Amino acid sequence: YTGKTGSQLLTEKIKKIQVHEFSSIPVVVPESSTVYEAICTMFLEDVGTLFIVNKNSHLVGVVSRKDLLRASMGKQELNAIPINIIMTRMPNITYCFKEDHLLDVAHILIQKQIDGLPVVKKAPNDEGYEVVGRITKTNITKAFVELARDEMII
Ligand code: ADP
Repeated sequence: YTGKTGSQLLTEKIKKIQVHEFSSIPVVVPESSTVYEAICTMFLEDVGTLFIVNKNSHLVGVVSRKDLLRASMGKQELNAIPINIIMTRMPNITYCFKEDHLLDVAHILIQKQIDGLPVVKKAPNDEGYEVVGRITKTNITKAFVELARDEMII
C-alpha cells in the first residue's frame, strides 16, 4: 500500500500522459501552395491549423484559420498569394516531441494562446524537423474526458 490518496494518484497519472497517446494525424501543405489552396485543404481536411513543409518535408511554417481570414480581407486574388508570405515561420514555431508530457503542452497552449502544436521528430542526418503529428486543445479535451471515464469504471 502506497499511502497515496486518490487525488495524488490521479495527479501522477495526469503528469505521466505523453503527447503520442492523444495526438492526431498532421495535415501538411507544401511551401509552394497558395492561400486559396490552403483554404481548400483546411475545409477538406477539417482542421484548424495547417503545417507548411519544404521540398525535403521539413517543417517551415504554420497557418491558422485567422491567418487565412486576414489574408482574405484584402482585394488580392487568393490564388496569387503564396502561403509562405502569410505563415508563421521557423524559428518562431512552437513544437513538441511525441514523448513530451501532455500537461506541459497544455501549459504552452495557454501561455502562447494558440490552438495546437506540431509534433515533430529530428530529420535524419539533417537540419530541421519532420512533422509526425498534431496536438490541439481538442486532443487535450479528449484526454480530460478519458481520465474521468477511467475513474468511473474503477
Ligand atoms: P487562430 O489564429 O485561428 O485563432 P491560433 O490561436 O492557433 O489560431 O493562432 C494564432 C496565431 O499563432 C496565428 O498567427 C498562427 O499562425 C500562430 N500559431 C499557431 N500555432 C502556432 C505554433 N504552434 N507555433 C507558433 N505560432 C503558431
